[in-house]
Amino acid sequence: MSVNQLSTSNYHLFSDYHTHPQGHRVRRYTQTLLQPWADSARNLGLADIAFTDHDRYHAGIGFDEIDRLRERNPDLRIRAGIELDNDPIYSGARRNWIEKHWDKLDFVLGSIHFLNRPDQMFDSVPDGAAQFEGRNIDEMYADYFRRLRELISNGWVDSLAHLDLIKIHGHRPTADVGTLVNETLEFIRARDLAIELSTAGWRKPVNELYPSDSIIELAMEKGIPFTTASDAHSHVQLGENFANLAHKMAEIGIHRVCIFEKHKRAAVPLQL
Ligand SMILES: [Zn+2]
Ligand SMILES: [Zn+2]
Repeated sequence: MSVNQLSTSNYHLFSDYHTHPQGHRVRRYTQTLLQPWADSARNLGLADIAFTDHDRYHAGIGFDEIDRLRERNPDLRIRAGIELDNDPIYSGARRNWIEKHWDKLDFVLGSIHFLNRPDQMFDSVPDGAAQFEGRNIDEMYADYFRRLRELISNGWVDSLAHLDLIKIHGHRPTADVGTLVNETLEFIRARDLAIELSTAGWRKPVNELYPSDSIIELAMEKGIPFTTASDAHSHVQLGENFANLAHKMAEIGIHRVCIFEKHKRAAVPLQL
């Protein structure tokens, strides 16, 4: 794939801040596991990537292996990160792990994956859709955004992942969720957090970017910064649909993207 596929209208997306080298199980970080991600990044023209495996697989994360990967690929910025979620059973213990390794981590994503069922993430496709059957969708949206504000209040997060994930299976609220969204974005602004623009929504049943255009516009009004993300669970998904994302960002008028080093945020202009 050429660099042009990540670029449009003088925009070049150079960073992917949501990736899962381990996929969906514990796999120890090794050069064999990680190098293909560095190779994919280079081939795509991505210069800055963050590994953000799910916190439930933190046992596989090896900071020394990330350091070795950095030494072997000095042309790339490789960030050590993790995706912290609201697992009702285990998230406390995982937050402790994050606190303990905070200084080694560059970046922590915060996510809501659980609603009423502690044993199943609502965003599993297709099984999670059953959690919406016969339910009041407006109440589910309210519940989702309440959990998101709770996650934000608990701290230890730099940026929020897939902000409106609740739409994943295509369920739409009948009531206006403007107030809910506005309150949540106010929370995010007050804590000086970023949110991601995630192309993953384009490969899910909803077939829409996370978050929606109206949420992006409201976040822009509030001066909330954005990262760019694919939520790749394989190195071949890295930077997926970034050409479409670049197009959308040019159209909406997002001129900067943010990057993180040891939780310190910097804004980088996108114009070539
Ligand atoms: Zn997630
Ligand atoms: Zn993820």
